[in-house]
Amino acid sequence: MAEEKDYTENRDEDDKPEDDYEEICYVCRRPESKCGSMIHIPGQFSICVACMQKSFDSMESFGLNPADLSGLNNVDLGDLKKLPKINMVNLSELQGGIMNRQRIKKKKPKVTGSSKPKFDIKSIPAPHIIKEGLDEYVVGQEHAKKVMSVAVYNHYKRVAAMDMDVEIEKSNMLMIGPTGSGKTYMVKTLAKMLNVPLAIADATSLTEAGYIGDDIESVVSKLLAAADNDVEKAERGIIFIDEIDKIAKKRNASQRDVSGESVQQGMLKLLEGSNVEVPVGSNSKNAMVPLVTVNTKNILFICGGAFPDLEEIIKERLNKHSSMGFQADLKDKYDDEKDILRYVTVEDIRKFGMIPEFIGRMPIIFTLQELTKEMLVKILQEPRNAILKQYKKLLELDEVKLEFNEEALGCIAEKALEKDTGARALRAIIEEFMLDIMYQIPRDDNIGKVTITKEYIENTGGPVIEMRSAIPLEEKTPAVIEDKMEEGED
Ligand code: ADP
Repeated sequence: MAEEKDYTENRDEDDKPEDDYEEICYVCRRPESKCGSMIHIPGQFSICVACMQKSFDSMESFGLNPADLSGLNNVDLGDLKKLPKINMVNLSELQGGIMNRQRIKKKKPKVTGSSKPKFDIKSIPAPHIIKEGLDEYVVGQEHAKKVMSVAVYNHYKRVAAMDMDVEIEKSNMLMIGPTGSGKTYMVKTLAKMLNVPLAIADATSLTEAGYIGDDIESVVSKLLAAADNDVEKAERGIIFIDEIDKIAKKRNASQRDVSGESVQQGMLKLLEGSNVEVPVGSNSKNAMVPLVTVNTKNILFICGGAFPDLEEIIKERLNKHSSMGFQADLKDKYDDEKDILRYVTVEDIRKFGMIPEFIGRMPIIFTLQELTKEMLVKILQEPRNAILKQYKKLLELDEVKLEFNEEALGCIAEKALEKDTGARALRAIIEEFMLDIMYQIPRDDNIGKVTITKEYIENTGGPVIEMRSAIPLEEKTPAVIEDKMEEGED
């Protein structure tokens, strides 16, 4: 038996008032906040209970018989020395005593969110206020914004009224709209406004449990991470699953459909509400990671997808209907209809390849419009964080005024339309031609104003550049005016 040591020598540290640091488990490297309280071992070591238990388990497999330390959290550490057949080695001595105490700085708890009152019926903003909030960021999509505001309002009202006798149905949503029309953006804005955690997952990466890829429950562990591992917060969060149309049932599939129909099947119980065991601080379950149970009953699921070909299915149905019976219409009446998606029915989505049980758990289905040129022009300049506002601000810091004339805006929107990726194309186009401006302007202190023209965007001319001295005072940026006033100029 090794020389008896006082294993309580570190105990006085526990009695110290909390400081800004936390211990790290010497074995699994996780901090105290992740793996719970630590066992201090002489020589500035700390080992978490799980790792300690594991080492005892391994000892047991070698024929040793250590006591079960699962309840060690509450055990007087002085008792450790009484354990049979264990020789505690001071590892710091082995390493020449140069070992430093392993600690990291604690993360500061976020002030927002946790300190705010949890949802109660009074704190849920009314639908019109939710929509007003969305209006500040999202251009157009009036119908989608309205449906979403009401659904979110009802959902959180339902969460607040959980213990009432009438159970209100969950308001999971299915958003159908072309790529770049603002689906993800709307959900992100909503989650920010409501101050709830949001996890965004891509349905294409999900596979049935046991196959290569993320298993379906990994979306819940993403949400838990977004909620700073606060289970209660996560249970009121939002999970957005993008590209949901990619897990449509494969027609004529000869192999096992691990990423289509079976993923839909696998999602059913999550959508409805069930207890899911998820790893804390990791997205894969393994022996080293502790698990927590998250209930998905109050998690709002929003699925989004572009559903290509769905228009054809709708058109086919509408045309068939209108060419039959007394009210027979022209057979191709709907062929020129622009916003055909708004006629979508559950039957069309089923025909597309979503299984009825899945659709049944998405009671709110709505569509987003394809962005038009006018909408794109508005997106460029109107939202609170519009791209043009950002560039204007950047140049304003160099005391240069940036303007875009109407024709130039129209031209950018047209170019974006050609790319067929909705508003997503705008940034790429703008960045391309703003590069030269952002490079050249700060070179010359005399430049006071730049106007982007249609010719510049079309590469047939340059921007209009005005020198500082030529700009009337009232047109100068506020910063310039202030400077001039200080210099005594008028
Ligand atoms: P998707 O519909 O494919 O999910 P996103 O929501 O990711 O498209 O849109 C891409 C980007 O385009 C967003 O980050 C946002 O800046 C912009 N955007 C798209 N639609 C709108 C809109 N209606 N109003 C304002 N910005 C939009």
